[in-house]
Formats: sequence, structure tokens, C-alpha cells
Amino acid sequence: MSLCQDFQDDFEFYALGLLDAEEKAAIDAHLATGCATCGAGLKNALAINAIVMSMAPDVVPPARLKRRVLASVGVQRMSWGWLAALAAASMLVVALWLSVQERSRAAELAQARHNLLQVSSQRDRLLQALTFLDDPSTLPVSFGKGQPLPPRGNVFVHSKLGVLLIASNLPPAQSGKTYEMWVIPKGGAPRPAGLFQSEGGGTAMHILSGPLDIATLGAVAVTLEPEAGSAAPTTTPIIVAPVAGL
Ligand SMILES: [Zn+2]
Repeated sequence: MSLCQDFQDDFEFYALGLLDAEEKAAIDAHLATGCATCGAGLKNALAINAIVMSMAPDVVPPARLKRRVLASVGVQRMSWGWLAALAAASMLVVALWLSVQERSRAAELAQARHNLLQVSSQRDRLLQALTFLDDPSTLPVSFGKGQPLPPRGNVFVHSKLGVLLIASNLPPAQSGKTYEMWVIPKGGAPRPAGLFQSEGGGTAMHILSGPLDIATLGAVAVTLEPEAGSAAPTTTPIIVAPVAGL
């Protein structure tokens, strides 16, 4: 068990490709034994990493720079807390990048401002998602396992915070369409739970904020709907996460 606890702090670094070969080999060997605790830990780290990397799709720093930036803000081997620091560090990289752009052309400056605004809002969403993942009473439900054509990912439900959905392999919705999340009570009709789009690389994150009666909850689902959204699902669900029995 203490071996597993040691590994928990390494998964974020594993996901970012920052472990040295020896450390990575030790984790790979352990994961090969099929440890469920560590499998889940790594999956969460990969999901978070996907979000962090999607914050600035055009400004992904090379691994060496990433390492230097992490070191410069004093990030050591901490738990979830360091992810907030990484978000701040990423912002620093983006800001530096933009200051270079500023010196070139005015048109690029306008675009850069636009990008920075987008990244800032992503940062807020990231921190909101971390609140979910950091709370011990959050319940994770995986979906898409064993499907030949995933989207895959996790739904996280929390009685006070609501629902956090993180999906990968979700192709961008066609023009005029959007993804809609549904909260489906046991034996009840699906309730609309917000519209969202898939981001760069097929990663999507959506949050329904607010209290949630987990005891009566049957499933969380996602369908493709017209741009304005629908009051009830009009297509077959692309994602179904069974929540009943948590
Ligand atoms: Zn383990």
C-alpha cells in the first residue's frame, strides 16, 4: 500500500513525461500488475494533463522549458496543489510569448489579446475542475471502456458541487451542432445539464454547478443536438455514464 501511496504523487509527472526512465519503469512495472488504485490515479492525472495542455494549444512549451518553468516557480513533488501552480506557470509562458509577439505586428497583437482572454477563461475552468478532483467526497464514474469507437473519460459527481465531465476522443461537433449533457434521474426523464463543445485534440470538459441528489441519480449522458440545445434528447447518446449505485 505504501508503494501505491508513493506512486500517487508521481502520476502527474508521469502524465507530463517528466519522470526519468528509472522512475517511469518502476511505475510501468507496477501498473502491469493491474493495481486498480494506481490505474485510477494515472487516469485522473492524464485527464488533468489533457486539460492543462489544451489551455494553450498554439503555445505548448517544449518539455525542457516546462521543466525549467516548473522549477522556477518552486514546484516540487506536491499533490494536486502543484497543478494550480502549473496553471500559473503556463500563464507566465503565454505572457512571455505574447510580449514577443507584441514587438512584431499590430495585427498579431490583437489576436494575441484574444488568445490570452481565451486562455484566462480556460484557467478559471481548470481551477473549478480541480476543486472537484481535490474533494474527497467526489465520486468518479468512467465511461466508454471497451467501446470500439470511444469517446472515453470520467464523470465526477458531488452532492454539493454538481457534475464534472471530462472526455477525450470526442470529435468537434459539426457546424450548427453542439454537445448537450443530461442528468437522468432513476426512472425519470433526462434533464438538460448544459451545452459544450469539444476543444483542440478532442478533449472536452463540462461542468454543471450546483447541488445534486446522487441517491436518485441514474446516469449522466451526452447527445449531439442543434446549436441552441434541446429540452429533451433528440439523438442517441454518445456518452452514457451509469451513476446509479454509487
Ligand atoms: Zn498501486
